[in-house]
Order: sequence, then structure tokens, then C-alpha cells
Amino acid sequence: MFARIDLHNHSCLSPCGSNDMTPGMLAFEAMEKGIQILGLSDHNCGRNLPAFKSACETCGIVPVMGIEVNTVEEVHVLGLFGTLEDAMDFSSFIEFLLPDIKNNPQLFGEQLIINDEEEVCGTFEKNLIGTCGISFSDLVEEVLARDGLIIPAHIDRYALSVKASLGFLPDMPYSAVEVITLPPVMDTLGNTVIQGSDAHYLREVGRRSCRVEVPEISFAGLKEGLKNGIVKYGPGNG
Ligand SMILES: [Zn+2]
Ligand SMILES: [Zn+2]
Repeated sequence: MFARIDLHNHSCLSPCGSNDMTPGMLAFEAMEKGIQILGLSDHNCGRNLPAFKSACETCGIVPVMGIEVNTVEEVHVLGLFGTLEDAMDFSSFIEFLLPDIKNNPQLFGEQLIINDEEEVCGTFEKNLIGTCGISFSDLVEEVLARDGLIIPAHIDRYALSVKASLGFLPDMPYSAVEVITLPPVMDTLGNTVIQGSDAHYLREVGRRSCRVEVPEISFAGLKEGLKNGIVKYGPGNG
């Protein structure tokens, strides 16, 4: 069977994410768009993942919980997990590697933490938009060692991508690579190619998604499906 997936989205924890983008609204909007496996990957932090997991369960969606890490080379990479425990453990690791620079909400935007009741229960102090102290190759190995999915994000983007910051895609054992443009404009080295919305606003949820052939609609099924690499792009269910 094919599952519609969208593994790359932000919430109001990301300073560049809209304050309307609560985990609950993200899950609801994705359900309306027919997304069956949904990712939340805020910049450098996973503090909204507990609320995201609850919201996905309410909406009947499989949650994929992770972070979009900004490496020292200024490359964005998704590290994604199937359990909240694994994701929060990874979040602690990444938060520790963040430089101790306080966020300026007027300049960068607020970093809101949301609870299971969809209420703002705090803000994250360190600025999340910069780089954290881990290299691209170390990050790939770290996420694989933690049994997560490692997906270089928007590899063909004009900035904050392997293309922009490194000039090429290093040959490493990725779970998949995410592109904005199809067909890919750069060598993807035979990796499974997926698309994600990278939504920062509710209207952007589901703007890019794809369907992956999976043995079952679950995180384990997704992992297997990405390994097999049978993907359909664009709208439609056929
Ligand atoms: Zn990004
Ligand atoms: Zn993103």
C-alpha cells in the first residue's frame, strides 16, 4: 500500500514559524490534506513534540518526531524518530550543542512551547535559528546510531542546504533525501527522493508531499518503505 507522507514541518517553536502553527493545528490541517504519516521538525529543538504526538493520535495520523538540525556547515538535516522518548533524548543532545545565545523575539520571532491542551506553557530561551555544534557527517552518524531517519533537507535549496553550503551531496547512508524541485537538479546518488512541505504557516501544510509504498502505516513501515524507495509524487491516490 501507499502512504501519503509529509515529514518536514515546523511549529510555533521555530522562531520563523507562525504562532498559529500549534502542534494541534498542524495535525488537523495535515489530516484535512490526507497526510497519513506526518513529521514535526522544528529548528534545533523538539520541545513541541509531546503535544504533537498527542495531536496526531487524536487525528489518527502516525507522528514522526524529530528536529531539523542546522550543522556547523549551515546545512539543514532532518533527524526523525518513531518514539517520543528517542526524539526527546535527541533533542536534549542537540539543545546542549546550541550556542548560549538568547533569542530576541522582536528580531527573530517567538519560540513558543505548547502543552497537550494547545496552550502556550513557555518559551525556549536559546535562539534556535543558528548553527549547533555538530558537523554534517557527525550528525548523520549520530542519528543512525540512535536508529532514527536521517534526511538531508531541501538539498537543492539556494541556502542552508548541501548544494549551497557544501556544493554536493556527500556519499553517506541516508534514509532519503528531500528535494524542492522534481526531477532533482543535482545528483542524488541513488538515494530515495522525497518531498516535504517545510511548512511554517498553516496554509503551507501539505503543499509538498509524496506517497511511499509501505508494508504498514507506521514508523517501522515508513523506514522499510524509504529503504525500498518506491515513491509517487504529486496529487492523487492512484
Ligand atoms: Zn530548512
Ligand atoms: Zn524546515
